[in-house]
Amino acid sequence: MAQPTVLISGAGIAGPALALWLSKNGYRVIVVEIAKGIRAGGQTVDLRGAGGDVVERMGLMPQMRAHALVQRGVGWVSSDGSRRAEMPVTAFDGNGLVSKLEILRGDLVDVLYQATKETVEYRFNTRISALHQDDDGVEVTLADNTKLRADLVVGADGPHSAVRGMAFGPEERFVTPLGGYNAWFSAPDHVGLDGWYLMYMAPGGLNASMRPTHDPAMAKAGLAFASGPIEYDRHDLDQQRQLLVDRFAGAGWQCDALLTAAQQADDFYFDSFLQVDMPAWVSGRVVLVGDAGYCASPLSGMGTSLALVGAYLLAGELGHADSFDAQQIQDALQRYQTKMRPYVDKCQDIPNRVDRFAPNSASDISINIAVMKWMQRWPFRPIAAKLWFTVADSIELPDYSTA
Ligand SMILES: Cc1cc2nc3c(=O)[nH]c(=O)nc-3n(C[C@H](O)[C@H](O)[C@H](O)COP(=O)(O)OP(=O)(O)OC[C@H]3O[C@@H](n4cnc5c(N)ncnc54)[C@H](O)[C@@H]3O)c2cc1C
Repeated sequence: MAQPTVLISGAGIAGPALALWLSKNGYRVIVVEIAKGIRAGGQTVDLRGAGGDVVERMGLMPQMRAHALVQRGVGWVSSDGSRRAEMPVTAFDGNGLVSKLEILRGDLVDVLYQATKETVEYRFNTRISALHQDDDGVEVTLADNTKLRADLVVGADGPHSAVRGMAFGPEERFVTPLGGYNAWFSAPDHVGLDGWYLMYMAPGGLNASMRPTHDPAMAKAGLAFASGPIEYDRHDLDQQRQLLVDRFAGAGWQCDALLTAAQQADDFYFDSFLQVDMPAWVSGRVVLVGDAGYCASPLSGMGTSLALVGAYLLAGELGHADSFDAQQIQDALQRYQTKMRPYVDKCQDIPNRVDRFAPNSASDISINIAVMKWMQRWPFRPIAAKLWFTVADSIELPDYSTA
């Protein structure tokens, strides 16, 4: 039998993680990525719970630890920078808002890419423009008109997945806006974060934040605001920057400095807070993994775990390339859905309301900050742990190593 080919769209976290497992299992794997190279942007992501277990099983934990950031906790600040509340990294046994093992998203993507670039064929600066399924596989056309044949196509191309659009239907059917927008970018650290993730909430539904990086002179900044749907061009970064200026200019703390940094940052990223809800992630020989199929919103803190666990289960259920046939694919894809669904449901049920992250009034901000203090104390601590900080562990990963 010819070596089965899996074509993955998207070289974020889910795509390269899946590529790693599939290439180990003997598949030919091609990854197409719309960007010119791997996209190193993003803030810190954590490797708590099952996501960390998957990284252990990949054998990549030493590389991840080598990139770990020194973090001291999260602090909520006033307009003048004084601290209103803190949650140290030790809260909730190292699984609180800032967890004991966090790395930059770009470092995580790079570790996955370095571990796969010799065994996986990466094609950057292109994308799938058409898919046609027949009895034996999928005929794929890339943007440059190249034709490829694959036994299976995987959409790992994020919350606005093009593969999902081609094989399942338009975005509006599956994407629920959560009532706000969010920008991430690099910015000079003018406050001296010293390992602290600092967050400032201002009336009008504004949330500005700065997180440490490996470079003490630089921070990863976030500017988020609550809002109903806004019409904007997803490819027009200047228009998106202006949306931030309209809301954050003169809003206090470091907001003006962050707006200046947003103008210059080459890793500027803007999107709505959204969740992807789908009744099924399989359509014939096309399957979704990661944010493409079950984005839980960045506020859930579960995107990395969902992507890593989804990739692990999908590859594990597909098994070794030499036992790959049409019936086996369908059975494997159904088992992937069945095993993944309860974990997705739990991660998506985490309370992640934008109006709590970016409250509208000064009194709501004060209540929010009081909640952050109280949740660390008895009797609220176990309730908070159950609602937010133990969900990452709520799946028993199958052992595929002996399969
Ligand atoms: C630049 C960037 C920065 C991010 N920063 C953060 C952050 O700070 N905090 C956070 O919680 N989450 C962040 N995320 C989202 C986070 O990575 C995901 O929520 C999560 O890790 C799931 O990963 P994923 O692989 O499913 O999706 P993603 O990590 O979004 O990866 C999807 C990949 O698909 C590519 N892609 C998109 N469309 C196409 C297409 N048509 N054809 C081919 N490729 C395509 C994208 O360029 C991207 O590389 C960021 C995502 C990106 C892309």
